[in-house]
Amino acid sequence: LVASLQQVDQTYIMVKPDGVQRGLVGEIISRFEKKGFKLTGLKLFQCSKELAEEHYKDLNQKSFFPKLIDYITSGPVVCMAWEGVGVVASARKLIGATDPLQAEPGTIRGDLAVQTGRNVVHGSDSPENGKREIALWFKEGELCDWTPVQAPWLR
Ligand code: ADP
Ligand code: MG
Repeated sequence: LVASLQQVDQTYIMVKPDGVQRGLVGEIISRFEKKGFKLTGLKLFQCSKELAEEHYKDLNQKSFFPKLIDYITSGPVVCMAWEGVGVVASARKLIGATDPLQAEPGTIRGDLAVQTGRNVVHGSDSPENGKREIALWFKEGELCDWTPVQAPWLR
């Protein structure tokens, strides 16, 4: 009963161009897989300036905005949609603080990055933004709703 009352959310996770260039795609995907969330979308993608600007529109008055857009469009990214109860906040914990030097060891940024401007991964900051960003980065038909089989070895 309790589980049925809990909201299933979606979050948009993206391996940024530095993560792809450094060969960290498998490592980053595996953190979310091992945690137990459900992957519902996955693609390698070169994004346009327009898409990057729309994705980060809340930051468009910041001094670092032009550099951020150059960074995100500098090479392919890996776009992912993940689903689960509490997935938005939990993914943010797995990712760690924006500044990798402040991120705790054990987090993706804490373990794998040094610079805020090259912090390897993005995660949505609210369930609303999770939905917004998944709709922005994925077309209809690219997402896959599937039911994990009951694991017989756990019964
Ligand atoms: P987060 O990705 O942790 O949600 P923000 O939403 O605040 O962080 O910022 C989005 C992204 O913009 C960051 O992940 C980082 O790549 C970049 N960024 C944020 N602050 C700075 C900064 N001071 N200098 C350069 N890049 C920044
Ligand atoms: Mg953010």
